[in-house]
Amino acid sequence: MGIKVAKFGGSSVAGAEQFKKVKAIIESDPSRRVVVSSAAGKRFSDDHKLTDLLYLCHAHLTYGVSCEDILHTIEQRFREIRDTLGLQYDLDADLSRLRSRLSKDMSVDELVSRGEYFTSRLLAEYLGFTFVDAADCVFFGLDGQIDKEKTYAAISRALSEHESILIPGFYGKLPTGRIKVMSRGGSDITGALAAAAVGADVYENWTDVSGILMADPRIVDNPSPIPNITYAELRELAFMGATVLHEESIQPVKEKGIPLNIRNTNRPQDAGTMILENIQETDRHERFITGIAGRKNFTILTLVKRNMNQSATLRNALEILDRYHAPVEHITLGLDSFSLVAASAALGDALYDVIADLKKTCRPDDVQIQDGIAMVASVGRKMPSQPGVSGRLFAALGAAGVNIRTIAQGADELSITVGVSNEQFETAIRVLYHGFTG
Ligand code: ASP
Repeated sequence: MGIKVAKFGGSSVAGAEQFKKVKAIIESDPSRRVVVSSAAGKRFSDDHKLTDLLYLCHAHLTYGVSCEDILHTIEQRFREIRDTLGLQYDLDADLSRLRSRLSKDMSVDELVSRGEYFTSRLLAEYLGFTFVDAADCVFFGLDGQIDKEKTYAAISRALSEHESILIPGFYGKLPTGRIKVMSRGGSDITGALAAAAVGADVYENWTDVSGILMADPRIVDNPSPIPNITYAELRELAFMGATVLHEESIQPVKEKGIPLNIRNTNRPQDAGTMILENIQETDRHERFITGIAGRKNFTILTLVKRNMNQSATLRNALEILDRYHAPVEHITLGLDSFSLVAASAALGDALYDVIADLKKTCRPDDVQIQDGIAMVASVGRKMPSQPGVSGRLFAALGAAGVNIRTIAQGADELSITVGVSNEQFETAIRVLYHGFTG
């Protein structure tokens, strides 16, 4: 039987009720032998994540202000879980050890990592899994990067010695022996490392949504989840503003060709989103737009010059933007003109220097600026093989009165991006969504 690695995010382990759901999920499939847990997160919308409280605690200590109240809140969260579930773990002994070291030799990273540590100690006992401290199986090198070889060896050794293991996410150990935490949301990385280490059949990332949604739910009502998506499509959506998994957290499973399945702890019956390197298209009826994402506040710089040497002029223009650290995100090229699209914030006050330099170096007939532009990308691996997609896309926008200011197609034909005014951003997303999901 293969192995599944299941990572549970903060909202999935926020309290005793959530622990019960996690247990039901684990017990429903014996191949879920490796669990990675975040620190308890929010139980309701204005609740606090333990990680945030721990950071707050440290800030108080730094400025010599008492953190007693916050510490008490944190301890109570853990005690409540222990008592509701009748667990034996000697939490109080560990908590008092923590208190005694707090202001003396404890680094911010070590303090913050205790959110994952205590949550995982409790969850491991509740699930009947062996607790394996991340300090003993997730290692950083001297450069502060994960030492994958050492980490993989330690995790696979732990699994060979125990039937099922639970590893706290988010932290590991430096060669100096000190604890280091990853970037926020880092338990996703630990989960991916564990999946790569044991050669899992699938890396399940359990959260509070039933997968990646086709569009931003703040703009589109009840958007459908994406059933299958490739890593390349995911990159495009993330680049255009969709909040999906951190690139770094995907790398270990992507490298090993392990599918990543995003699932909902509160609705385990939903299949969620499956992220794969390649997708065998079996469902002919599956939509040919995978997802829609976009960002506001871009500036389009259009340079017009009759009979120009396109390559040389474009190269000069790109060099100028590069000099001002304004990445060019899209380019459209015509015979006597081209447009460069950059985030307005990246251009900032340098915009006028950029224009002056463009005029001096490229000697154009004209330079035009349009700001307040939103870029909206429709992403779909099936688009290259499907005639008529761009026609439908532009027709839908036109019929809704959305004025397209610029068009860019990714060279791999994985996405078609249109520039519209900031004011028409939401309309454009809704039109595209409804035009392609109906
Ligand atoms: N608990 C950490 C955070 O809130 C890491 C994680 O949840 O993945 O960022």
